[in-house]
Amino acid sequence: MTTHEVALPSYLEQSPEVRDRFRRIAERPVVLKVNRLGKTFDGVKERIQALRDISFQVRRREFISVIGPSGCGKSTLIRILAGLEEQTAGEILLDDREVTGPGRDRGMVFQGYTLFPWLTVLKNVMFGLELSGATNGIVGVSAEQEARGWIEMVGLEAFADAYPHELSGGMKQRVAIARALANRPRILLMDEPFGALDAQTRCKMQSYLLQIWKNVDVTIIFITHDLDEAIYLSDRIVVLKANPGEVQEVIEVPVEHPRTPEQFLSREFLAVKKRLEELIHPSKEAADMLPIIRMTQVDDDVY
Ligand code: ADP
Ligand code: MG
Repeated sequence: MTTHEVALPSYLEQSPEVRDRFRRIAERPVVLKVNRLGKTFDGVKERIQALRDISFQVRRREFISVIGPSGCGKSTLIRILAGLEEQTAGEILLDDREVTGPGRDRGMVFQGYTLFPWLTVLKNVMFGLELSGATNGIVGVSAEQEARGWIEMVGLEAFADAYPHELSGGMKQRVAIARALANRPRILLMDEPFGALDAQTRCKMQSYLLQIWKNVDVTIIFITHDLDEAIYLSDRIVVLKANPGEVQEVIEVPVEHPRTPEQFLSREFLAVKKRLEELIHPSKEAADMLPIIRMTQVDDDVY
């Protein structure tokens, strides 16, 4: 046993503040119910069971991350939640109504930049609003004013007339978040939205997202394979395993709110990280190791 292991508390241990927060969350209504969800793909040679028996519930304004190794079905799960893919078993209830296709009650932000390159930031954010002819019931508020409000919310008012190619990756994702939120979805579905960003921008985006979430009545389901990101952002983390994709554990993150980057090194944070490591990377399997083939002469050995 290492000293590291001895020093950390259990990830199940919660301070009175954290316990109280979870008690308050438990009093909120359930927004999303995922009941025994399954998905098999019929491949040319074999059937792939991407998801099996996935069940969890999400309460209003909760921030839930779904984490797991590559290929465990994270994107499949979020595509089914978005109504872009159909499950082969089980059901999804959003506000007690069954999800059977895409809808304005769900906003999506993907890893790849999905802005329309020929439209300005403002027009990109207005796009969904104009398409539906809706101003979300706010009489007299034009789609433009509404869109400008969301652009301001993500701190890009100076870039309203810019085109996507004039923006950095982080700014593009902020526009994508503004566009998704402009439709006032009940839940925001995010599939590795910061996966293509450099580490520093990624950290900033995580803090922005927490600020936005604080100011908007929205429930977030966030897919990632980054352990730190999941812990920093989430109330709870749904941990999946691969082949087939199944829920291993749902972890209540014992790190207090408001979250700050300093907490990355806190005992609670590291305790959860250790647990996630155990669940996601149980041991280095032989299959992960590359065969060692010497490509150089022995006499230029640098060790
Ligand atoms: P993740 O996002 O966790 O990396 P995915 O949801 O993309 O995982 O994929 C889960 C599994 O389902 C993988 O084995 C993948 O190859 C398979 N899969 C995903 N989409 C399809 C598809 N359209 N047809 C066949 N197999 C698919
Ligand atoms: Mg994926």
